Order: sequence, then structure tokens, then C-alpha cells
Amino acid sequence: MLRLNIAKASQAFFEDSLSATDLCKACLKRADFVRPLNPFVNVTKEKSLRQSEESSRRHKKGESRSILDGIPIAVKDNFCTVGVPTTCGSRMLVDFVPPYNATVVERLENAGAVVIGKTNLDEFAMGSGTVDSVHGPTFNVWGSSLPYTVGGVKRHPCDQQPRISGGSSGGSAVAVATGACFAALGSDTGGSTRNPASYCGIVGLKPTYGRVSRHGLIPLVNSMDVPGILTRSVSDAANVLNVISGCDPLDSTTVTEESPQVVLGDQLNLCGLTVGIPREYHCPGLHPEVLQAWTEVAQLLEEGGANVKQVSMPHTDLSIVCYSVLNQCEVASNMARYDGLQYGHRADTNVSTEQLFADTRSQALGLVVRSRILTGNYFLLKSNYEKYFEQAMKVRRLIAEDFAAVWRDGVDLLLTPTTLSPAPPFNKFTSLSNREQCDTQDYCTQPANMAGCPAVSLPVCLSEDHLPIGLQLIAPNFCEQTLLSVALWLEKSLEFPQLELIDV
Ligand code: GLN
Repeated sequence: MLRLNIAKASQAFFEDSLSATDLCKACLKRADFVRPLNPFVNVTKEKSLRQSEESSRRHKKGESRSILDGIPIAVKDNFCTVGVPTTCGSRMLVDFVPPYNATVVERLENAGAVVIGKTNLDEFAMGSGTVDSVHGPTFNVWGSSLPYTVGGVKRHPCDQQPRISGGSSGGSAVAVATGACFAALGSDTGGSTRNPASYCGIVGLKPTYGRVSRHGLIPLVNSMDVPGILTRSVSDAANVLNVISGCDPLDSTTVTEESPQVVLGDQLNLCGLTVGIPREYHCPGLHPEVLQAWTEVAQLLEEGGANVKQVSMPHTDLSIVCYSVLNQCEVASNMARYDGLQYGHRADTNVSTEQLFADTRSQALGLVVRSRILTGNYFLLKSNYEKYFEQAMKVRRLIAEDFAAVWRDGVDLLLTPTTLSPAPPFNKFTSLSNREQCDTQDYCTQPANMAGCPAVSLPVCLSEDHLPIGLQLIAPNFCEQTLLSVALWLEKSLEFPQLELIDV
């Protein structure tokens, strides 16, 4: 039952061949089984069982609230959940219990979804590995010592080094990939939903900036953060998107126009579709197997009737450096609220207020976070502001203009790698190399955040080491309908081999 898609599980509830309570119990059991990988920081057992029983009762009475009613979902631990700790993977917030729900959580619960727990992340979502959390790292299930089959074939456990899960939404990706839930919320500022989806062999959707409310998502870079969706299939991602999308009076950056629901049909004709292959995404460090997968999928789209052509996006390689300036400036300002006075950790200091701030922050924030605050404040100095922040804003505009130009040129979608390689081994991706690693692994995902475009990572094949390789589709703003329709077409054509845990 853990391998059904959302529509099939919902149908089974309707037909009374499955109960939401049994499904929730199976997910909780699986969550327990995969504990060695550390995807969850908190499994909300009692609450989820209660929610699933309420859902079962609704189904019995024929009063299902939506397709998500009774579906177990996990939430990244940087979304506020009323009454449930929200730690952001930081010592600063280990005891923080929000008094309100993030809008997306509220919408999921109102639709009847069962929130089974909160998932691990890099501290305050700063990272691409889920290696930097107060709760310890999250390991990838691919290459782990847990027994599993791939496409029905048993693989030998422990024949590889442990791999990173990707990040910063690594906990969400592993929870979904292992069947501990049917979907999970992530967040995506520079690739944090798409990157772990790619490493874990699942679907990761970053919606258009402004389509989904950020209210209650603890901010990293307000002008780029978007709630993301991690699922095992494209149709599941569409079903979750339809529930969480839409204007929110509590987030002034959500668009006021109604977001049309994404409706995925069975038949899609690619004739008339133009897919762009941006030349500049062929970057140094691109793994040959990723390049091969990219080439083969481009051919597949062409054979399916699409017009596939090379395009140029000349400012692509400026995206990471521009992001690192903007990220650190926004981080410096966002993190100012953690001063030990109103909530979060407070140092045991009574020398002076300044000393209290300094001790609190140095005790409770990790190295990556502290270094970004320091650098951000340097960029924001009066004497530096124009040279760094304003300059980066101009470069951001050029990157966004690259996208606008290809769309104007008649391109409907871009096809690119998601990450430059399959999941790196854990011992090569420590918190000390976090910055460097983000720079390489976020190369292809970051630009879409600069422009606000929707993008999806899709698992396409396995590497020689039997690790997933993902590719990314990017669409113009608010074109999730085209994005997910083509993603579904690819999903059907590629038949990516499913990972199945042997739950002993
Ligand atoms: N890796 C990037 C960073 O550390 C992006 C993270 C994200 O998307 N949340 O900032």
C-alpha cells in the first residue's frame, strides 16, 4: 500500500478497500524502519493517528474533503506547525513551538491530509546536502545499508559508501523515497527541493514564486524562497500543488489572480512544443553520465515530436556568485531576529545586552550560518552596499532577462541537468565544504530562483553505480500546466526503476 500513488490511495479509501488509519500506521512503521537514515526530526505519531482516524470516519460517511484526505504527508522542519516544534535544524530553535501553522500546512490539513512528521534539513535551509543539522545528517537510501530492490532486482547492501541525501530538503526527499509518506513539503531558494529529489530518485517541484504562500515558512531569502513539493510521481506533485496554491492575504507576494488547477491528461502530443537546451548549462564538472542522460532525453523529446533546439543564456554562470551575495545579505537581515530575547535559545549571560546577543548567537548558530551573517553584514556596510548588493541586483535582472528572452523566442520549456552528478559520497561532503559544494551542485537549479520560474526535477535513469540521475524542466512563470504535462510524458516514456525497501 505504500507504493500506491495519491489518486489510487484516495480511490481505495473511497472503495473502502483501504482505511486512512491503516495507511497512516504503515507509514509510521516505515518511518521507524528507516530511522538509521535520519529523515525525520520528529514523527508526530499521536497527532497523525488522530487525524487519520478522523479521515477514516469522513470516508465512511462519504464526506471526503479532497483527494488528499487521509494521505500521509511530511513537512520540512522550517514550516511552522502549531503545537509541534519547528527547529530549522538549528540549536537556536530546538525548543521553539510555533503558535500558528504555515499557510501551506493549514491548507493541507484543511484538505484532510495527515501530517506524519517534520523532516530534517541543513540549518535554516543553508546547504545542499542535509549534512549540517543539529539533528545530525540525513543519509540517502540509495547506496545505504538498508535492504532494497530496484525495479524488482535485489541489490547487495553495503557495497557502496553512504551517500548524501541532497539538501537542504534531504529529510523530505528520503521520507518520500522510502515510502514513509506519500508527499513532503520542502523549500526551494536555490535548488533545495530539486537537488535532493534528483539525488533520491523522486520528483521535486519548485512552483512559480508567488503561486504558493510563504507565510509561516521561516525565511532564508525572501525574494527567492518558494515552498516545494517532493513526491514519487508527477501526478502526485500536481495533486499537492492544486491544494496549496493560491493567493494568501498573509503573504503579499502571492498573486491575486486565481491559479488555475493543473489537470493532467493521459495523452499529450508534443508536436508544436519547443524545448530549449541552454548551451551554458554544459558547465565544468558536469558528470559524463549526466551529460549522456541529458542528450538521450533531448532525443526522446525530439522523437516524440517536440522541436528541440539549442539556446543561449549568457548570464548563467553569474548566477551562483550573484546568489551568494544576495543570499548572505538577506540572511544577515533575516537572522537579526534571533537575539535570545523573544524566542529561541538564550545564553546564560548577564554582563550586558550586547554580550547576551553575541553569546546567544555564537552558542546557537552553526558555522555556515554565522559565516553567512558575517559576510552579509560586510556586503551591506554603507561603503560596500553599491559595490555588492546593488550590483548583484542588477546581475539578477540580467539573469531573469535571459529567461524572458528565450520565452519571447518561442521556447516553451528548458531541459537541463538538475545536479552535476549523482549523489556524492557523504565523506566528501562535510559542513566545511558546504559552500564550495553548493556552488557546484546548485549551478543548474539556482537561475530559476533568480527569475521566479517554475521548475521540476525528474528521475530519468540510474548511473553505473546504481544511483539516480535527475533532469530538470523549467517553464515560464505560472506555466506549471505545461511543465507538469511534459514531465508526465517523460515519466511514462522513461519508466524509471522504482526503489522498494525490504521491510524486514
Ligand atoms: N544551497 C543553497 C544555499 O545553501 C540553496 C539552499 C536552498 O535552496 N534552501 O543557500
